[in-house]
Amino acid sequence: MTSQNQPDYDVAVIGAGMGGIYASHQLRQKGFTAHGIEAASDVGGVWFHNRYPGARVDIEPYYYCLFDPEVYREWVWTERYPAQPEILAYLNWVADKFGTRDHYEFNTWMTGAIWDPALDLYVISTDKGSSFTARFLVMATGQLSKSRKPQFAGLDDFAGEWFQTAHWPDHDVGLAGKRVAVIGTGSTGIQTATALAGVASELLVFQRTANFSVPAHNAALDREAYDAYALDPAGLLSQLLAGASGTIMPTYEGLAASFTPQEQQRLLEDRWAFGGHSMNMIFNDQGSNMEANTVVAEFVRDKIRGIVTDPETAAKLLPYDHPVGTRRLVVDTGYYEIFNRDNVTIVDSSADPIERITEQGIQTGGAHYDVDVIIFALGFQAYTGALENANVSNEKGDRPTEKWSRGPQTYLGLMTHEFPNMFVIAGPGSPSTLSNVSVANTQHIHFVTDLLCHMAERGLTRVEPSESAQDAWVAHIADLAKNMLRLQVDNYMVHVNADDNSRVFMPYPGGVAAYVEKCEAIVADGYAGFEFS
Ligand code: NAP
Repeated sequence: MTSQNQPDYDVAVIGAGMGGIYASHQLRQKGFTAHGIEAASDVGGVWFHNRYPGARVDIEPYYYCLFDPEVYREWVWTERYPAQPEILAYLNWVADKFGTRDHYEFNTWMTGAIWDPALDLYVISTDKGSSFTARFLVMATGQLSKSRKPQFAGLDDFAGEWFQTAHWPDHDVGLAGKRVAVIGTGSTGIQTATALAGVASELLVFQRTANFSVPAHNAALDREAYDAYALDPAGLLSQLLAGASGTIMPTYEGLAASFTPQEQQRLLEDRWAFGGHSMNMIFNDQGSNMEANTVVAEFVRDKIRGIVTDPETAAKLLPYDHPVGTRRLVVDTGYYEIFNRDNVTIVDSSADPIERITEQGIQTGGAHYDVDVIIFALGFQAYTGALENANVSNEKGDRPTEKWSRGPQTYLGLMTHEFPNMFVIAGPGSPSTLSNVSVANTQHIHFVTDLLCHMAERGLTRVEPSESAQDAWVAHIADLAKNMLRLQVDNYMVHVNADDNSRVFMPYPGGVAAYVEKCEAIVADGYAGFEFS
C-alpha cells in the first residue's frame, strides 16, 4: 500500500458482472488504472450465481449486451431469449477479449473501504488480508444480488436437499424423478418451475402471490435483424438511450379510452403474440389509470383461464391483488401450461401459509407435503442489499445506506452525499432495473468515465453531490412516482416506511430518455450538483 498521496490504482471496481466487466474495460481504455474485486471464482455476476434450471434473460439480446462494436459484431447469439449458460459463456468470452481477469482478484470479498479525507482515496481491505488504495470506488455490485435467505422454521430438520436459486451449485443436482417443491413465484420461481415440470416426478409450486406472466415466444435469434443492428452498435445505443425503457419493442399506442373495446382487444392480441414486456406498454395510461389497467389485466386473466384446463387450478393462478405491471411482469416459456400436467400442483400459500419445514417436507396450516427437494426462489433485497453488504465508510465512520432508512438518498442514482468518489452503477434513483439494465449500466459507466476524465484534466481529486442537489433529485423522483399504480403495490421497487406506511419508489420512473436528458443538462452545466475539489 502506498504511503503517499498517490493511490495504488485510480479506480477500484467491485463486482465482475456485466457492469463491472464493462466499467473496468472502459476505464482502462481511457487511461485509468482499475483494479477489480469479485467474490465469485470468475466473471458473470448474477449470471454466475443464478444458474438454476430454466434461467434465461427476459429481454432480447439485440440490446441486452455490451455495445462495444467488436464484441457486438463477433458474438453470435442463438436465441431470442438466451439461457443462462449462453449468457455466462458470452461474459466469459467478453472477459477474455477485454483481458478482464488480469485486472481482477477473484474469490475475494471486499471487507471494507474506508475514505481517507487527507489523501482523497479509499483504503480497501479484503478477506484475503490484503489491502490497497484507490482514488475512486465503482460499485458494480448489482441491484438484485443480495438474495433473501430462507428463514422457515425447521429447515435444519429437513432430511432432503434444499437449494436457493440465487446460489445454485455448479453441477447437476439430479432432480430427475424426485418430488420437488418450488417456493416463490416471481420471475425466478416461474422459470424454475417451468423447467422442472418435465423433470421432477412431482412438482409442487408454492405461490404466496399470483403474478401476471406473459409468453416470451422464444425462438431462434433473427440473424438478419441482429446483423442490421451490428452495422452500427453506437447508433443502436443512441436509439435505446432516446427511448423509454432502453429496449426496442412495440410501445404505447394511446390512452385506453381512445380505442373501442374491439380495437383494444386487437392491440392486446397483437402484443400477446409479440410477447414479453411489450405488454406493459400498450396504453399510455395503463400504469396510472385503474380502468385502463383493468383492460390489460382482464385480458391476461382470460388468457390464463384459456390455458389452464382445470378451473380450480386456474382460479388459484389468477392475479387479482395487484394491477398488471405493478410488480415486474414475468416473461415465461410455457408456465401456465405446466399446470395441465398430472405431476404439477399449485399450492396457494396465501390461503394456507407455510408453517414450517419438517424432516419429510413442508407443513402448512392445513396440510403436509412430502418432498425430496425444496427450491427457494424468494427474491432479493433489491437496490440496497449489495451496498449494505459492502462495508464502505466515510470519514465519520458512516455507511452509505445508514441514512437510507426512509428510502435511498442519491443524486442521479450514481452518488450519495458525504461519500466522495464512490459511484454506484445503476443504483437506486436511476432507471436501473426498471429499464434494460445493460443500457442503464452502459450509460452510467460512460457518465462516470467522462466525469473522471473531466477531473483528471483539471487536477481534481474529490467529487461528491451537494446535499441540496441530492434532496432535489429524491423529491423529483417522488413527484414522478406519485401517480403510479406501482407505488401503491408492495414490490421490490418500493421502499415502505414501517412507522407511517409512506412509500418511496426506488428506481427513476421518468424513463431512460428523460433521465439521459437530465444527465446531459447537468454535464452541460459544468456538472451541476456535483462539488469538486
Ligand atoms: P421476486 O420477484 O421478488 O419473487 C420472490 C417470490 O418469493 C415471490 O413470489 C414472493 O412472494 C416469494 N416469497 C418471498 N418470501 C417468501 C416467504 N417467506 N414465503 C413464501 N413466499 C415467499 O424475486 P425473483 O423471482 O427472483 O425476481 C426478482 C427480479 O429478478 C425480477 O423481477 C427480475 O427483475 C429479475 N429476474 C429476471 C429474470 C429474467 O431476466 N428472466 C429472471 C429472474 C429474475 P410474494 O410475492 O408474496 O412476496
